[in-house]
Amino acid sequence: MAYEHSINNDRCKGCGLCVTVCPKNVLEISNKVNAKGYFPAFQARPEDCIFCALCCTMCPDVAITICEIETEATGKT
Ligand code: SF4
Ligand code: SF4
Repeated sequence: MAYEHSINNDRCKGCGLCVTVCPKNVLEISNKVNAKGYFPAFQARPEDCIFCALCCTMCPDVAITICEIETEATGKT
């Protein structure tokens, strides 16, 4: 099963808790301001994400979601 990690830029207040908790050093704080005037977190190294969900659990603003995504059946076993 594949997963998709997403951060809602406009919910994020840039507290950095998710950056600190990530065991794979995937996240960083952006230098671009969001609609509320905060610098949001983003996945700087998405290829390293193991979808452990620690960042989602830690975020006080529920800005991070991890969803299962449909993958094409390949027929391979
Ligand atoms: S799901 Fe885990 S590995 Fe991926 S960004 Fe969040 S804390 Fe880091
Ligand atoms: S923990 Fe949530 S609010 Fe804080 S920087 Fe990460 S995504 Fe943004």
